[in-house]
Amino acid sequence: MTDTTASGDVRLAGISKHYGSFTAVHPLDLTIPQGSFFALLGASGCGKTTTLRMIAGLEEPSTGTVSLGEREVTHLPPYKRPVNTVFQSYALFPHMDIFENIAFGLRRRGIKSVKKQVDEMIDLVQLGEHARKKPHKKPHQLSGGQQQRVAVARALINHPQVLLLDEPLGALDLKLRRQMQLELKRIQTEVGITFVHVTHDQEEAMTMADTVAVMNGGRVEQLGAPAELYENPRTTFVANFLGTSNLIEASVESTGSDVAVSASGAILRLPAARCSTTPRTGGKLLVGVRPEKISLVPAEDEHTIAAGRNKITGKIADSSFIGVSTQYVIDSPVCPELEVYVQNIERDARLVPGADVVLHWNPEHTFGLDAAQD
Ligand code: ATP
Repeated sequence: MTDTTASGDVRLAGISKHYGSFTAVHPLDLTIPQGSFFALLGASGCGKTTTLRMIAGLEEPSTGTVSLGEREVTHLPPYKRPVNTVFQSYALFPHMDIFENIAFGLRRRGIKSVKKQVDEMIDLVQLGEHARKKPHKKPHQLSGGQQQRVAVARALINHPQVLLLDEPLGALDLKLRRQMQLELKRIQTEVGITFVHVTHDQEEAMTMADTVAVMNGGRVEQLGAPAELYENPRTTFVANFLGTSNLIEASVESTGSDVAVSASGAILRLPAARCSTTPRTGGKLLVGVRPEKISLVPAEDEHTIAAGRNKITGKIADSSFIGVSTQYVIDSPVCPELEVYVQNIERDARLVPGADVVLHWNPEHTFGLDAAQD
């Protein structure tokens, strides 16, 4: 096999981590492309921080190797790796002002004239006004978002090959968090350094990362671009962790490039290419569709639905207005609680709780999962 690893890729080969008899990370092979924004996403305890710490050198892998480009760094201490970490707690020096916090990495290397480089970093993270105005501010005089900017500038000052970010936005309120997500993305694009970002927030990972590794129970369940993971989840965990999925238990009626399944009398179709398992006639399949892909009409308008759409009948159990859309919960013979999001612009006054409805969607938007997994 040809090795396509670029000179600056982060490569994890068979790395695992055991704590006594507990396995925090199962043997993992992962290549993080140079210059990418990569997110390790998963619920608390899934092993994402441990994986990050093994890249940083803060944790020794039980098995396997860590390489940065051509260079294996598995046994190098953190300070000898071309890697830096930003922690959720910022870990700024409280007695130093913004400038000195950012300059720290340069001064430690014995560099005397630091002003130009620190100024560049101050501009990069857009801290100008706070960093330059006298009297100079110390970390406790800054907001959480500003402290985070200082932490990022300080971590980038020595131009590491890789910046590791461990839940860096975890301490910020939601609005600031959203703002800093865009900021970090902008900074990463500007500096072009590989960012590896740990988060449990799926929206955060989807907003920022080029590639997301979804972790569960110490394993990567799926790796891909955000849209790919959302459109084509390969496991029920990924389907449910990234947004909401309606999952319908079905029996396979026929196979081919188009698969037909039946669920409580309804026949649904989906492309074979969107199945994570090879469907077999007579076998089971979990059929999924995202809530926003479904349209909803009152039962008496069923004749208006174009031919070839997947259709199921149901009754509105509940509806809630959530700003740009209305969220409906539908009781259907094929699935007890289906979720549908309808843009308010398309809302029909007849769609009230108790109303008989028909749900319909493009078969192309249907995915199939192995019903036997988990
Ligand atoms: P969180 O978001 O809560 O930090 P995580 O996905 O980052 O979660 P890790 O911190 O990587 O998870 O931890 C993975 C598992 O390993 C957890 O069950 C944790 O309790 C365990 N673990 C982590 N560090 C140690 C340790 N030093 N000794 C024993 N168990 C540990």
